[in-house]
Amino acid sequence: MTANRIVIVGGGAGGLALASKLGRKLGLSGEAEICLVDKSPVHIWKPKLHEVAVGVIDQSVEGLLYRDHGLKNGYRFLRGELAGCDPQNKSITLSSVLNDDGEELIGQREIEYDYLVLAIGGISNSFNTPGAEEHCIFLDNLESANRFHQKLLDDLLLLDETNEKLSIGIVGAGATGVELAAELHHVLESVKDFGYLNIDKSHLEIHLIEAAQKILPALPDKVSARAQTVLDHIGVRLHIGVQVKEVVKEGFVTQDGVLIASGLKVWAAGVKGPDALARLTELPISKRNQVEVDACMRVKGQEHIYAIGDCAMLIQDSGRPVPPRAQAASQMAETLYKNLLNRLKGKAEKPFVYQDYGSLVSLSRFSAVGNLMGNLRSRSLFIEGYLARMMYMSLYQRHLASLYGWFSAAIYSLAQRLLKWQRPKLKLH
Ligand SMILES: Cc1cc2nc3c(=O)[nH]c(=O)nc-3n(C[C@H](O)[C@H](O)[C@H](O)COP(=O)(O)OP(=O)(O)OC[C@H]3O[C@@H](n4cnc5c(N)ncnc54)[C@H](O)[C@@H]3O)c2cc1C
Repeated sequence: MTANRIVIVGGGAGGLALASKLGRKLGLSGEAEICLVDKSPVHIWKPKLHEVAVGVIDQSVEGLLYRDHGLKNGYRFLRGELAGCDPQNKSITLSSVLNDDGEELIGQREIEYDYLVLAIGGISNSFNTPGAEEHCIFLDNLESANRFHQKLLDDLLLLDETNEKLSIGIVGAGATGVELAAELHHVLESVKDFGYLNIDKSHLEIHLIEAAQKILPALPDKVSARAQTVLDHIGVRLHIGVQVKEVVKEGFVTQDGVLIASGLKVWAAGVKGPDALARLTELPISKRNQVEVDACMRVKGQEHIYAIGDCAMLIQDSGRPVPPRAQAASQMAETLYKNLLNRLKGKAEKPFVYQDYGSLVSLSRFSAVGNLMGNLRSRSLFIEGYLARMMYMSLYQRHLASLYGWFSAAIYSLAQRLLKWQRPKLKLH
């Protein structure tokens, strides 16, 4: 095997797992140069972003520093944002890195590759709804989760003094919206224990707005119905079959002209590829801003470029695209890992086949619900409560195992549990 430069852009659920595995297999031994590029220096598994937003987890404790992790796992980390791609010269451009004052820290750079993997994830889709970009927080990255957290802290401070109501509106009752709503209720229940003596859950009003005819529209009816019962029970106000026409400072204006008053506004509906992809004019980009790939995850028309995860559009044999989920990103990373090893040895690559193992939704301390897919006639099994919570947590365990290996991941999880036991349950700063 000759030395090869494999550059992976995006260190999320798919990209970081791939960089870690390739790094350990080829990077540590010097058989290939593995380089991971990300615009952020810290990785938090995206399905945990809503927990960062409400303060249930602390990024300074649970965040993984790419630079340090890369050193131990055989890849080189480069901080930067993808700005361009030149397939002819096999190079990408990273835009300059700025400091907090907006001054240039590192200038624009060109990075050469032999193989390039795009894994820059997706962002929420506002469907060009007027006012959405201006007034809503999109829970797409660590930065926006931290911004939400700061606004929540400001509101808690005000609430404690004024005793008014805190009204939060969330557009999109998919997993993100539902999990965030439940987690917010849990936090408001708990803040008294942290010195916010005048606040309790009666001060919180959460509006969850969904255009489809049920919450969790992508999941089986039984899962949606059970989640709805739990949300009803804790007092989340559900607006089902309601479309948002416009977002204004005071809240959401519906198609019928009704204003759903909300101070803090979150947009968690739809997924599309990041804007950076629209600038890659040499590559085939879909209407949803994703890179079109073939069955082996190769970008169509490109021999040396692959794309995985939410930023890739891979149409399955069924005619449906692979869904934007962490389990899909991690399965793609696993298949591409094997394919790249094969390719470097001159062997054939295998097509990616998505295995839907079901979906699990955490309803904070109140419950967890989901469905597990069986092989038998594609029927799914409904689960809830403790079993569903254990299965939900096992997804994160699998992600950790891909980053650290199973043994180290188990030690890491144990250490985090001990830390959690000793540290405050909420981050309120
Ligand atoms: C709150 C929330 C809850 C979710 N819950 C679940 C769940 O329970 N189960 C499930 O299966 N899925 C869930 N998802 C979806 C899941 O998180 C994504 O499908 C998954 O993370 C996609 O993985 P990825 O590797 O494609 O991208 P990501 O994990 O999003 O990673 C993308 C990476 O690329 C980096 N990046 C972005 N743009 C650039 C650029 N221009 N240059 C350089 N780097 C860049 C980002 O910093 C990030 O590190 C949830 C999503 C959210 C937001």
